[in-house]
Amino acid sequence: MSRDRLLRACLAEIEENLAAFQRTRNAVQFHNDMAETLVASHQAAYREAMGGQALDASDRATLIEVLGNQLDYLEAFTLEIERGTLTDAQIAARARLYAGSLKETWSRAATRGLDLPAHPGVGTQCLVNCGCRWEIDAHPEDGEVYAYWRRGKSDSCDTCRERERMWNPLIIELEVA
Ligand SMILES: [Zn+2]
Repeated sequence: MSRDRLLRACLAEIEENLAAFQRTRNAVQFHNDMAETLVASHQAAYREAMGGQALDASDRATLIEVLGNQLDYLEAFTLEIERGTLTDAQIAARARLYAGSLKETWSRAATRGLDLPAHPGVGTQCLVNCGCRWEIDAHPEDGEVYAYWRRGKSDSCDTCRERERMWNPLIIELEVA
């Protein structure tokens, strides 16, 4: 499954979770539905981005780190819903942003083993709307990897433009075993 298909499938599940919340107004149930969606989607994104290989211990640690952050955000989001400070439109808009967090997981899995300074959708002004990707060009004969930050077509926030300028390419020395 491609990254974009995976994002769309996650978004469809989020819409279902929102629809259920509209019916029940049960914030705890919504939290649990969203947590289930996020865990399954991030696992799938990681596996798919690696081409279906099994995750090793370091992959699992990466996945747990990304998921841990998302579940912390979800916790805070749920508390705000319970406090009643958000409109339904705000709840829906914020819930949909969670699908974008799959871009980080996908990128980390696709570039596993490389120590990269950033990933799409993290620390950018465009937040999870970021359409950037790393393009990796390996030169094992020179012990180097060239990593290019490729901007998405409609992706023009200052952070992403700056990354494109800085990392064009970023040269990573491979450690010699
Ligand atoms: Zn971007």
